[in-house]
Amino acid sequence: DHGYIEVVVGPMYSGKSEELIRRLKRAKIAKQDVIVFKPCIDNRYSKEDVVSHSGISIRAIAINHPEEILDYITDETQVVGIDEVQFFHERVVEIALRLADMGIRVITAGLDMDFKAEPFGPVPGLLSRAEFVDKLQAVCMKCGSPATRTQRLINGKPARYDDPIILVGATESYEARCRKCHQISK
Ligand code: ADP
Ligand code: ZN
Repeated sequence: DHGYIEVVVGPMYSGKSEELIRRLKRAKIAKQDVIVFKPCIDNRYSKEDVVSHSGISIRAIAINHPEEILDYITDETQVVGIDEVQFFHERVVEIALRLADMGIRVITAGLDMDFKAEPFGPVPGLLSRAEFVDKLQAVCMKCGSPATRTQRLINGKPARYDDPIILVGATESYEARCRKCHQISK
């Protein structure tokens, strides 16, 4: 049996985690051996779970480097889930390919674009190599249209192009936006 790569992308709040969790739970119902990973950086709700904005969750292993995935793979492993895949090093692409070549179904979920609407890290490389791709849309928080982009807000105002990733003392938030409502301050 051969494996394959599935990629679920879209902006924040588009339901990527929900969709990943849905697929993984169905695999578990089918008695398949499933392992789920996420990067350590994402401490949104829980250190050890993948949790969607709607509150559904699945047990996961938080790791720093994509190579760590290999340490958990056994002869029994059939399905590997990876959430927030955009935060991993580019080498996650090679790891996903290797797992699929070993016969494993690899399901990854993550942002296809950063807040500047530019391709995000390893995700383009995964998208082009995947057998199956789903691009989800959220609802634009300004106009209600389908949203493909993630708006970064600093103290309620659109983030600048060169705002640092970590802003001490500022309140940072994210919204789903459509192309028309998405703003980046120069
Ligand atoms: P993602 O992993 O893509 O960030 P999640 O699966 O964590 O998305 O969350 C999706 C859920 O977020 C939706 O089912 C809905 O309950 C909620 N939600 C909040 N804001 C929005 C929005 N602007 N558009 C769509 N869903 C939203
Ligand atoms: Zn809009």
